[in-house]
Formats: sequence, C-alpha cells, structure tokens
Amino acid sequence: MRRLLLSLAALLCSAVSLAATPWQQIHQPIAGSPQSIGSFANGCIVGAQQLPLNSPNYQVMRQDQRRYYGHPDLIAFIQHLSTQAHQLQLGQVLIGDMGMAAGGRFSSGHASHQTGLDVDIWLQLPQSRWTAQQLLKPQPLDLVGPDDRQVIARHWQPQIDSLIKLAAKDDDVTRIFVNPAIKKQLCADAGSDRTWLNKVRPWFAHRAHMHVRLRCPPGSLECEDQAPPPPGDGCGAELESWFLPKKPGTTPPVKKSPPPLPPSCQALLDKHLL
Ligand SMILES: [Zn+2]
Repeated sequence: MRRLLLSLAALLCSAVSLAATPWQQIHQPIAGSPQSIGSFANGCIVGAQQLPLNSPNYQVMRQDQRRYYGHPDLIAFIQHLSTQAHQLQLGQVLIGDMGMAAGGRFSSGHASHQTGLDVDIWLQLPQSRWTAQQLLKPQPLDLVGPDDRQVIARHWQPQIDSLIKLAAKDDDVTRIFVNPAIKKQLCADAGSDRTWLNKVRPWFAHRAHMHVRLRCPPGSLECEDQAPPPPGDGCGAELESWFLPKKPGTTPPVKKSPPPLPPSCQALLDKHLL
C-alpha cells in the first residue's frame, strides 16, 4: 500500500512538473522596447504591457491567472475595440486570455498566445457588468448546437456579428478563429460587405469565444508572421469541408512536444530564471 502511495505521489509530481512551464515564474514584463519574438505558438515578448484592469468598456476575466499582458499594439486594439462596442451600445466586452508577462507557453489551454499578439474575447455581451465572482469563475455560453453544425438561435444576437466584424475590420488584425458553425452564421448574415470575412477562420472548439490575432508589430524584427489566409470570404467549399464526416484535417492536430525556443527567448529565460 505504502509503495502504491509513493508511486502515486511520484506520478502526481511528474504530472505537475510537466504541466508547469518556466514562463509562469516570470511575473513582471521584461524591461525594454516592445518586441514580439518568434511565432505565435513558440515565442516570447520583451516590454509587454498590462491591460488596465479597470475600464468602463470591458471587463477582464480570471485575473488570478495573470494572463493579461500583451504587446502595446494588443492593448491598443482591445481598448479601441471596446470603445467602439461601447459607442454602439453592444454591451460589455469580456476579455479572456491574452499572454503572460514575458509571453511563452501556458501550462494549460492553448499552444499560441506566446508573443503578446493574441487575445480571447468572449462572444457574449452582457448589458450589465459582471460581479468579481462572475469574472473569477466565468460561465462560457456555448453558441453552437449539439450537432456542431449551427449556432443556437436563442443565443445568437446581432451584437455578436457586430463585434466580430469590428475586430476583423481593424487593420492590425490578421486572423480571427471561431467555430465553423459560427463562421457559417456570419457568412449567412453578411450582406454585400464581405471582405472582412476573409480574416475569420474556422477552427476547432472556439464555441464561446473568438481568438483574435494581430500581425507582427513593425519594430519586432524577430517576430514571425503567418501567411495570409487564402483569398475570398471563405464561405464556400473550405467552410463546407468542416461539416463533412471524417475528412482528413477535421480532427484536432496531435499535440507534439514543444520545439526548441527561438534563441532570443532562450537567452531571456536563462537571464531571468537563475
Ligand atoms: Zn485563444
């Protein structure tokens, strides 16, 4: 019995250390002029800023996670978007994960969000502000029906369309990830103004939030951008392929062990984790 307990303890310890990443131990942004380094899924950031936690236009969820840092361009984007949303009376913008103080890999959740250029914004726009307790343990609103093919009509509001469209029309935004059923709804609702749909990409999960990604900032010489999405509004065959049964590419990619860090990020870790 004792041996079993010991091996159980060892197992638990190794699970914890596997889950932890060194980036979580850096609690303050690295001083310096803002630089996003590496790729969205393998990188870091110098000179990150903290999103101001008090704003009349947005609320920041799960503040205990301290994932509210980003490149100044990301801070500016969130502030601009939520000001527009406020002016249009869309409701409160709910901000989820951004990045950690020096960027890098989270212990859980997503592989990206590493360079201070990604933010999760929830696709519900409450008319009144949430309490501290609601913000600490927020309840996501699943917009997609159980068949994974369409949004749930009673949860869908025109304000959600407007918020995604506002974000997509921002020049600094290169991609927005949403569930394929949400993209399908956006395609159906859009009239003749459709160019912004190009940036809205169908992806696994993302049933209650959109993931917004900015382009590499002009001064970030070691930042790696992605190729632009294919031309067009993406509402045709590409979107339909997500709803076909068991087609290759419709299962989530297998998680591989992380690649080596970009040298500048490794140097940053070596310097700040003694
Ligand atoms: Zn995300």
